[in-house]
Amino acid sequence: MSTPNPTGWRPTAPSTLETTAVTTTTGNRALMLEEPLLFEIGNRNQTGVDFDPVKSGASRLGGLDRNGLDLPGLSEPETVRHYTRLSRQNYAIDLGLFPLGSCTMKHNPRLNEKVARLPGFGDIHPLQPQETVQGALQCINELAFWLIDLTGMHGVAMSPKAGAHGELCGLLCIRAALEARGDAREVVLVPESAHGTNPATAAFCGYRVEDIPATKDGRVDLGALKARLGPDVAAVMITNPNTCGLFEPDMKAISDAVHAAGAFVYCDGANFNAIVGKVRPGDLGVDAMHINLHKTFSTPHGGGGPGSGPVVLSEALAPFGPLPFAAKYPDGSYRLIEEESAGEEHPRTFGRMTAFHGQMGMFTRALTYILSHGADGLRQVAEDSVLNANYILRSLEDVLDAPFAHSGPCMHEAIFSDKGFAEGLSTIDVAKGLIDEGFHPMTMYFPLVVHGAMLVEPTETESKAGLDQFIAALRSIAERARAGDESLKAAPVFAPRRRLDETQAARKPVLSYNHPAPDGSSTGLGAHFGGG
Ligand SMILES: *Cc1c(COP(=O)(O)O)cnc(C)c1O
Repeated sequence: MSTPNPTGWRPTAPSTLETTAVTTTTGNRALMLEEPLLFEIGNRNQTGVDFDPVKSGASRLGGLDRNGLDLPGLSEPETVRHYTRLSRQNYAIDLGLFPLGSCTMKHNPRLNEKVARLPGFGDIHPLQPQETVQGALQCINELAFWLIDLTGMHGVAMSPKAGAHGELCGLLCIRAALEARGDAREVVLVPESAHGTNPATAAFCGYRVEDIPATKDGRVDLGALKARLGPDVAAVMITNPNTCGLFEPDMKAISDAVHAAGAFVYCDGANFNAIVGKVRPGDLGVDAMHINLHKTFSTPHGGGGPGSGPVVLSEALAPFGPLPFAAKYPDGSYRLIEEESAGEEHPRTFGRMTAFHGQMGMFTRALTYILSHGADGLRQVAEDSVLNANYILRSLEDVLDAPFAHSGPCMHEAIFSDKGFAEGLSTIDVAKGLIDEGFHPMTMYFPLVVHGAMLVEPTETESKAGLDQFIAALRSIAERARAGDESLKAAPVFAPRRRLDETQAARKPVLSYNHPAPDGSSTGLGAHFGGG
């Protein structure tokens, strides 16, 4: 198969490793600027603002006044440049394709941003009297109805602040429902391929986690699941479409078996993007499912937050959902049902998960996205995201092993393994090679059921030309990995930093800063993260 390249764009393999050996006086590389720590620049004796010296008045701090805070003293332009330079070292969805599988890194429409900044949404406070924020409550309520509609469920808890938080909410509902019927169960079943948050959530809720094996074609082994069900099983957590990028065709049979055994079905809805507008999880017997608004509904992921993970609930679980929630009254007004003592309205709630009602800024963005697409547009989102992933799968399966490609089309993400790479080269080398080509790497080594997994999710917001660039880049790197091109082990060679010791950085982060020695040499953070 020839390399698809209609745009005329040419991938260039890093031609010279010597590039890295070229040094500059400043450490800068062309217009890519190095930036020291905030504490290493500026002058401690200056500030960016001029205050007149305090004229009079005794301190009223009772001896608690602090001296010598030792904050870095930067002027406004120095400050602006510091953060702008740092921001340029970041990769972002606004810069290019972000093919992280399972993360659904899609474009964040600017219309969402405009609406979220309307003063009636952007300038309000959670403690304002409710009659002054009726529009905001209506917005929460309308989004809630869309989520219920799209999933075919009975109710929704809007307050959870991420997918993982939503999982916690769902399992707390399940636990409350079981406790209400005096049925103490101890085990939650989780497929081997599950996202790490699933077993973590179950364990956090006090359940014992047991694996459900996968079949050879990457799906839940229905027979093994049925054999394990029993009076000790509280719930099954299933991801559908699953983390191998495949739809679970036995989902209804799974739910029926789980319900017959007196347990509940939690669905991890992180991959809802592939089926939104096409399949309603409620029709498949799901009892609780989180929806990552920052995945399917295009709100920003933003450096670990703010996310939003509303949880849709079945009729059996809805009475146990958390406070607070927005409700519409017959006179057309909206209210936040907040107090546990408002017992008459929601007496069986398991309690409260967050201080307020959830991520308002994400609600406005998600509702804007939904309304601007409409029902037919959302269906097309799912169709196009699946089409794009299959285009990637079929364009690369001759150079990358695609373990489940034989079992038909994938959903919205394509999975590859490291099978076929030359001895000594592995998934991480391919991922680092992608950085040199100007792409954020795909998800690596997840799910664990695929050796050296590479999970690629293009989303529907990428054009064919953009996908062709990515395919050409990944193809060239895959070919180098197959051919045993050792230079790939040095990648990335063009990035500001090379290969960092990420494990060490995560396990032993250096969070304090040491002052530069009087001679000006620094012993601070920069030395730790400045490898390469
Ligand atoms: C993203 C994801 C989660 C966790 O969601 P967060 O919003 O990151 O907490 C859980 N499961 C799967 C399959 C995911 O992709």
